[in-house]
Amino acid sequence: MVLKELQNIFHNELDAIYGQHEVNSLFYLCTEHYLNVPRIQLTLEPELAITKPETETFFKALEHLKQQKPIQYLLGETEFFGLPFTVNENVLIPRPETEELVDLIIRDVASRSVQSSLKILDIGTGSGCIAISLAKNLPNAEFYALDVSPEALKVAKQNSELNKVDINFIEANILELVENSSLWEDVALRQKGSFFDIIVSNPPYVRNLEKQEIKPNVLDNEPHLALFVEDDNPLIFYKAITEFAIKNLKPKGQLYFEINQYLGEDTMALLTDAEFEAVELLKDLNGNDRMLKGTRI
Ligand code: GLN
Repeated sequence: MVLKELQNIFHNELDAIYGQHEVNSLFYLCTEHYLNVPRIQLTLEPELAITKPETETFFKALEHLKQQKPIQYLLGETEFFGLPFTVNENVLIPRPETEELVDLIIRDVASRSVQSSLKILDIGTGSGCIAISLAKNLPNAEFYALDVSPEALKVAKQNSELNKVDINFIEANILELVENSSLWEDVALRQKGSFFDIIVSNPPYVRNLEKQEIKPNVLDNEPHLALFVEDDNPLIFYKAITEFAIKNLKPKGQLYFEINQYLGEDTMALLTDAEFEAVELLKDLNGNDRMLKGTRI
């Protein structure tokens, strides 16, 4: 089949769902992934034809896209901070807002006088996107990444290999670690006194009451474990991580969060009420409260 014809079929079937522009992007992602054909080649070679099995692969992809399955899960890959990441239904698809958080941390570290041998912990690492993109850009730091989901850790490990960085992965539930600190000592990471220079987390923060704002492609496909919290205790992870950070950050160590845009002030209060100074709430590119940072006194 001629690829151009296939592209028209994609438009006929999908434009109503995604809009023409988005369908073009989806189609080009498929040609790059399945055929290794970059989009420019389609323009230069409009009569480019593909084999029957290749055509079948495209039709299968089309079916999934009609059901609003995210293209990243379909192809099993995505890009974050300019790096390749493997993804599947066990991990959240990395978001652009999180790239802003990574960028903030890299800029802050660059402005520090001492940059060597920093110890950095990412809590709720998921695909590993935060820890891995930091590791790639802060090659002298030592990285730890924790997640409750063994399936997510499998993906994160794969991604650390793909990007050739060293991360110490830990399977643990942060809520339990805070309840029972001997568990953390069992993990044998903590040496005498406080330990990390930086703790970062993008924990679950979407309330059930916000579910109507969440698009069906997210709601029906992405792991709810990584997304949702109960309406009556939406900051459960932030409280636990703040408590954990007080015990496990070095003095002057920094805590970074991605946060729920509607809970900026409340989340900030957790840090200002605890032992943190220089607490700052920062907006993402869409102008929403999205990042929070503070320095342990
Ligand atoms: N920003 C994500 C979303 O809107 C949520 C990420 C999270 O819960 N940590 O889907």
